[in-house]
Amino acid sequence: MSLEKTLVLLKPCTLQRGLAGEILHRFERKGLRLAGLKMMWLTDELLSEHYAHLSAKPFFQRVKDSMMAAPVVACCFEGVDAIAVVRALAGPTNGRNAAPGTIRGDYSMSFQENIVHASDSPETAAVELARFFRPEEIFDYRQSTFDFLYANDEF
Ligand code: ADP
Repeated sequence: MSLEKTLVLLKPCTLQRGLAGEILHRFERKGLRLAGLKMMWLTDELLSEHYAHLSAKPFFQRVKDSMMAAPVVACCFEGVDAIAVVRALAGPTNGRNAAPGTIRGDYSMSFQENIVHASDSPETAAVELARFFRPEEIFDYRQSTFDFLYANDEF
């Protein structure tokens, strides 16, 4: 158990569908602390880096184009085991296979247009947070609810 920070991107499909507030609310009400928030229009160059693990896939350019169809909202969320917790809230990549109750299960019908990006490991989270946020854009404040979110041996 450790207090972690993770990157979430609300994808262009989420902004186009007017779901940004609803998706942010899902993470907030879980108990994750919002540590950073910004809106950005992504570039092909940044996306080639961000999705480098997909560069050999036939859909690589299409996925990048879909991530430039509108701005994204980049978020940094913090919590105990936040990386795994956020991935579990998001659900599996293909929205059609995602269980109801997960974000992709509740809002997505697509493999590609799947509402959110979420970092998948501590190593990736560190690299991705540095890719999307400057250090001064991450805010370390204590929420007054903290003692009611965790037992004192959980962080
Ligand atoms: P995840 O976002 O769940 O970590 P990946 O890192 O494998 O998944 O893929 C990054 C993004 O590329 C996915 O969120 C999705 O938008 C898109 N993608 C991945 N695989 C496919 C696919 N087979 N068909 C269409 N889009 C895909």
